[in-house]
Amino acid sequence: MKVVVITGSSRGIGRATAIEFAKNEYSVVVNYNKSKQEAEKVVSEIKNFGQDALSFKADVSDFNEANNLINFAIKEFGKIDVLVNNAGISLQKIFQNVTESEWENLFKVNVWSVFNCCAAVANHMISRKKGKIVNVSSIWGIAGASMEAHYSASKAAIIGFTKSLAKELGPSGIHVNCVAPGVIDTEMNNFDEKTMEELKNEIPLKKIGSAKNIAETILFLASEQSDFITGQTISPNGGLI
Ligand code: NAP
Repeated sequence: MKVVVITGSSRGIGRATAIEFAKNEYSVVVNYNKSKQEAEKVVSEIKNFGQDALSFKADVSDFNEANNLINFAIKEFGKIDVLVNNAGISLQKIFQNVTESEWENLFKVNVWSVFNCCAAVANHMISRKKGKIVNVSSIWGIAGASMEAHYSASKAAIIGFTKSLAKELGPSGIHVNCVAPGVIDTEMNNFDEKTMEELKNEIPLKKIGSAKNIAETILFLASEQSDFITGQTISPNGGLI
């Protein structure tokens, strides 16, 4: 039985990823920060189709809490095969109005969390000479987005980190890749109907992506089918870029 830890899997893309991995016979550690009830629902859904799952509260922007999450998974399941760094927040604001503390908080949740969890799991994966890490960036980390300079910068940082860590951990048999989703139907995109319709019209495939679309890409990057892929960024975005 393989074991996956997915940060921010109480809702949205993380939730869909937890379900997708469970369907593929993984034991799942469902991490949440604020949404305890939602995380427990994900756990019972997974248990309903016969897989093992546990929820764990950790604010992964905090180094010690991220460590606790990784140690919990190793203690309960004996190992970690896959780490998915998915937890993230967004903020749409014109650049001049972004405060220093908003910038700091965004980087802590989106970037430090990835460092924190990778740092916590690295020695474990190195000693096993295998492991897969999938980091969730964003299309805007590649293309840049107006009114989201801070968010785009945090997501671009994840791509640079992924490329470098892949080079460093490759000789130890560890894969590090990135998924950079386009516009996906989750609570993060809390736009009105008109804005969503406009966004849809800009996408060549004329549809908003689903959380499942991203979960399937993450699962691919964790699977044996991607065994010669590392340091890469895949952007499921309906052809937007
Ligand atoms: P979402 O529906 O808002 O869900 C965000 C998840 O992250 C929640 O489960 C939340 O858990 C968790 N989270 C936030 N801060 C956390 C923290 N400090 N510690 C632990 N968990 C934390 O967002 P989503 O759309 O699924 O986004 C997931 C990832 O995909 C993010 O990294 C996002 O930037 C990226 N992404 C999304 C889109 C999109 O269009 N939706 C596009 C590109 C990239 P709690 O509620 O328990 O706090």
